[in-house]
Amino acid sequence: MPAKRLDGKACAEAVESELKERIKSLKQRGVEPHLAVIIVGDDPASHVYVNSKVRTCARLGIRSTHIALAADIDEERVRQHIRELNQEDDVHGILVQSPLPKHMDEEALTDLIQPAKDVDGFHPVNLGRLVQGRTDGLLPCTPSGVMRMLKWANIDLRGKRAVVLGRSRIVGMPAALLLAAKGADATVTVAHSRTDNIAEICQEADIIVAAVGRPEMVKTTWVKDGAIVVDVGINRVEDATRERGWRLAGDVDPAVAEVASWLSPVPGGVGPMTIAMLMENTVMAAEKRSDI
Ligand code: NAP
Repeated sequence: MPAKRLDGKACAEAVESELKERIKSLKQRGVEPHLAVIIVGDDPASHVYVNSKVRTCARLGIRSTHIALAADIDEERVRQHIRELNQEDDVHGILVQSPLPKHMDEEALTDLIQPAKDVDGFHPVNLGRLVQGRTDGLLPCTPSGVMRMLKWANIDLRGKRAVVLGRSRIVGMPAALLLAAKGADATVTVAHSRTDNIAEICQEADIIVAAVGRPEMVKTTWVKDGAIVVDVGINRVEDATRERGWRLAGDVDPAVAEVASWLSPVPGGVGPMTIAMLMENTVMAAEKRSDI
């Protein structure tokens, strides 16, 4: 039987309808949730992501401020924007779109964002809370979207063997922490580019979360019958059959659907969940600031 679809789009719609109620109640108290997004440079994919975030804000009734800066701008100008947004009482969330131009220090800029406004969840204070097992704060959006999607599908992770492919600060590591956290209770292995026998490690997994940025790396032979597979990857691969010359591919070969019990599609899986979690973080930041 082919794998069931871990439908991030449907799950994101459910998250959005719950958020609309919370936004309504914030507005009744005179608070309009407000997200500020800073984008530097002209990376087309980043502009697509930012536009999608801004559109989702508009759909939900979240105010957004979109600050677009030239690629050759001095890092100090970005710092100034962050400092100003930190001071503005009516701004609840600040996000600096990744990647930044090479001359900028992304982590140093993240460090400048007030932790209570860090809706990406990448500030050391927020990641540090996660390491401590405190999962009630501003969590990184992609891994928390993965967890929400698994919960939505009623997948019980307790005691299961999870393999996370990738150890990045924004996806792999926080995903591993969330899977191992109390309440989720999976037993987690983190694999990366220096891992030996990665296929064998995956074969033992009840759940695989693939976040490597390598198109269709996870093959059918890597996956145990009935395993749950979450594909975080978003990769552009050449495709001459498409008018635009490329298509989106995940980190998992779609043929894995023949052996897995659940598989998240690309697109329409983790992508929509990431944006939904960003919206939820913005609403949570507004609620906390307003003591709601
Ligand atoms: P990243 O920072 O480049 O990290 C990639 C990780 O994969 C690294 O830990 C790397 O290991 C590991 N890796 C690379 N090649 C490998 C290989 N052959 N075998 C095993 N491990 C390997 O990427 P990221 O930001 O975490 O993103 C990962 C993927 O998720 C990308 O496709 C990205 O576009 C996608 N993504 C999607 C969303 C979404 O909303 N759906 C959000 C964020 C990212 P080392 O540490 O050893 O280098």
